[in-house]
Amino acid sequence: ILNVNHLGKTYDSGSKKLTVLDDISFSIAKGETFAIVGPSGSGKTTLLGLCAGLDRPDNGSVELCGRKLGTLSEDERAVLRNKEVGFIFQNFQLLPTLTALENVIVPLELQGFKNPSKTGMDLLDKVGLHDRVHHYPSQLSGGEQQRVALARAFSSKPSILFADEPTGNLDEETGKKVVDLLFDLNKEAGTTLVIVTHDMELAQLNQHILKLKGGKVLSNETTLVS
Ligand code: ATP
Repeated sequence: ILNVNHLGKTYDSGSKKLTVLDDISFSIAKGETFAIVGPSGSGKTTLLGLCAGLDRPDNGSVELCGRKLGTLSEDERAVLRNKEVGFIFQNFQLLPTLTALENVIVPLELQGFKNPSKTGMDLLDKVGLHDRVHHYPSQLSGGEQQRVALARAFSSKPSILFADEPTGNLDEETGKKVVDLLFDLNKEAGTTLVIVTHDMELAQLNQHILKLKGGKVLSNETTLVS
């Protein structure tokens, strides 16, 4: 479902060029769970953005859901994302003019659900936000926004879900709930999970762990889960 080939990314920071990703290659099959770990600044978030087609690489290519991202226009990428891809990204996900509930029920309405509000409320309840359903994203904490994004990912049942530090802002108990929900989504809907995390316990729950260091692949291991 995801093929990454010889990916490279360099940022211009003033007069200096910073190579953030250097010759990254890996593949993920449909339905797999895949963790990306590495020290702060090793390029994990940049890699996730390139895989999801939110940014373009300087070298190499990404094939997502059978489409070569480099050959697609911005509009075609947006269509692919809306149809197949879910995100749990900090600061990139919720529509600011819609409440938590409205954000969650948009995909349900698109799918022609009979009673989207009820389903949306149930999903927000699952992530512990029953008392925040009418809040706007700007009125929610980072962790709460993350949980709304998770509820929305649940309602849209994407083929592949990219999650950047999904437990990063959460207390232990809520973090556990979110992890359970992520893996439920994988089991129930067959959603492929790509999870960036610092938490090795969470990483070990995945079938594969890619370790990055200084923008390069240090290792790509299959865990005992698979
Ligand atoms: P963390 O675990 O701290 O979130 P990360 O592994 O996700 O880090 P990235 O966010 O991908 O790392 O950043 C990798 C490097 O690229 C960092 O040194 C960062 O400062 C730099 N960087 C990221 N985005 C940009 C940008 N738009 N312009 C310039 N440099 C950037």
